[in-house]
Amino acid sequence: MGLVVQKYGGSSVADAEGIKRVAKRIVDAKKNGHQVVVVVSAMGDTTDELIDLAEQVSPIPAGREFDMLLTAGERIAMALLAMAIKNLGHEAQSFTGSQAGVITDSVHNKARIIDVTPGRIRTALDEGNIAIVAGFQGVSQDKKDITTLGRGGSDTTAVALAAALDAEVCEIYTDVDGVFTADPRVVKKAQKIDWISFEDMLELAASGSKVLLHRCVEYARRYNIPIHVRSSFSGLRGTWVSNEPQGDQQVEHAIISGVAHDVSEAKVTVVGVPDKPGEAAAIFRSIADAEINIDMVVQNVSAASTGLTDISFTLPKTEGRKAIDALEKSKATIGFDSLRYDDQIGKISLVGAGMKTNPGVTASFFEALSDAGVNIELISTSEIRISVVTRADDVNEAVRAVHSAFGLDSDSDEAVVYGGTGR
Ligand code: ASP
Ligand code: MG
Repeated sequence: MGLVVQKYGGSSVADAEGIKRVAKRIVDAKKNGHQVVVVVSAMGDTTDELIDLAEQVSPIPAGREFDMLLTAGERIAMALLAMAIKNLGHEAQSFTGSQAGVITDSVHNKARIIDVTPGRIRTALDEGNIAIVAGFQGVSQDKKDITTLGRGGSDTTAVALAAALDAEVCEIYTDVDGVFTADPRVVKKAQKIDWISFEDMLELAASGSKVLLHRCVEYARRYNIPIHVRSSFSGLRGTWVSNEPQGDQQVEHAIISGVAHDVSEAKVTVVGVPDKPGEAAAIFRSIADAEINIDMVVQNVSAASTGLTDISFTLPKTEGRKAIDALEKSKATIGFDSLRYDDQIGKISLVGAGMKTNPGVTASFFEALSDAGVNIELISTSEIRISVVTRADDVNEAVRAVHSAFGLDSDSDEAVVYGGTGR
């Protein structure tokens, strides 16, 4: 029996009862003969509450102090979990990210892991302990300051530790039974996927599926760590994410893996851009200099009478203000007429490696949207994904329509959401 890394999300340890329930599961894994390393998130909505608190004392809190504050959430959870395990008669020790050897760069609030040196975890395991590690945090290599990995970063901690400790599997315990063919909160007939490739999972994560973070899947693929996403509330087998299906992991949805949606983006339209070389470059340089990541880009054909065109792009709503400010500042040099900002949009994406070799997929996707009376504003595609932007109000309807059209609906309402406030 090898080493397993288990990660428990905030909704699984939302209160004392949750912590005790999770402690039992961890002890069961240990009793089965595994060495167990546990990565834990902050209890329930703790991180959001800490952010609210910080904003009350300072509108723009300093990155260093903000990270110091947020990491407290995971520390509370890890200590309580270690206590609960000891109460069940097993040895456990908790460690901060820094103590666990999670070394990052020094970009506060979204640090990247650059090395993992889990010497203390190894020692704790060799002495017969269950090791509990605070997720979502590390220590910067140069300044030795405490950092956080960005929201939802505990998954990445878990995969990084699994890679550094050469674990058999990284189990991600959450409040749903696994990865579904669509968000079960929106599509009651969504089905649990037994197995999905890293590639398809990466596209789903990039398209708004929140079960696993993109960065975490990227890390798992790089180090070839199989992930098992499953519920901490049920004993069911969840979804395996890996390079190749193993044993009885089934590949049911050969063509399409799922439908993802995202309502966290906004659309900026730059109106009246002269249709000549260098214009798009200037626009996106000013966005890049503001350190904003964009998603889709569309340029219209220029109007023959004016020689002017419009360029639209999407970006996270949270970056909207910054983008508008950056473009306004360089309006004179770029030379456009005006800006339009629209945050009432949503994105629907169909993902599956099978679409590479199945010609009808794009047509069926658009037919499903048209049958549902949904108007398309932007389109973008990759080899294994088609995405469209629509009105935000149309998103849920559109997701359900596409899910049905591709035969992904299950016969029963099997999708269960066990916990979480969805905050
Ligand atoms: N507690 C952090 C958050 O809520 C990290 C995590 O949950 O993974 O974003
Ligand atoms: Mg959380």
